[in-house]
Amino acid sequence: MKIFPLVFTIVFFSFSCVNKQKDNEVDQVEEIVAKSIFNEEESQLLTKGEKSDPFRVLTIENVKDSLLLRSKSKGFVVEPNDSLLILFSERLIATVQDSATLGVGIAAPQVGFLKNIICIQRFDKVNKPFEVYYNPKISQYSKKIQPCREGCLSIPGRMDTLSVRSYAILLEYENIAGEHQFEMVEDFTAVIFQHEIDHLNGILYTDYLHQKAHEQTIGHVH
Ligand SMILES: [Zn+2]
Repeated sequence: MKIFPLVFTIVFFSFSCVNKQKDNEVDQVEEIVAKSIFNEEESQLLTKGEKSDPFRVLTIENVKDSLLLRSKSKGFVVEPNDSLLILFSERLIATVQDSATLGVGIAAPQVGFLKNIICIQRFDKVNKPFEVYYNPKISQYSKKIQPCREGCLSIPGRMDTLSVRSYAILLEYENIAGEHQFEMVEDFTAVIFQHEIDHLNGILYTDYLHQKAHEQTIGHVH
């Protein structure tokens, strides 16, 4: 008869230990999400994959994707050591380097996240590394233009030559430590920055072709 309360106590104690452990795990996950720039839904999508897993790339061929690609992305405060932001950056690099895409740059909205984040292949650096930039913006454009052939991961199967890209740009951004940086970028790498930063404003490179066609139409009228 004395054993019953003892068993009950052990069972109860173990049960409350399991519950406490679960509570701790939930607390830890909530803490990570609270510290991160990603909401719960985004965090779930993000943590579905490992750092080497590419995201699905949104394309204009899908109506829902198309609407998102036309939306404006948002800026945010970079918290150093935001583990979800680090994971997102790694998966963004994996996406642009994926054999199915093989791009030279990508922006966060192209993988379904409306955040001011881009990944660029630095053709102007040794070994042409892929680098991620947070809250990038262009504060100065050179008057000198460079014609360049462009394609886009979100617009499969086409390439066009544009004559609207500046040869050099003054770039501002934050690095993963949250430090504000300035950099002058030139040549082809500057074109990639201009293309990807356009994505953050819902602009696709083909818009410049339409703009040109529109200007030509106006020219004919006059
Ligand atoms: Zn693009």
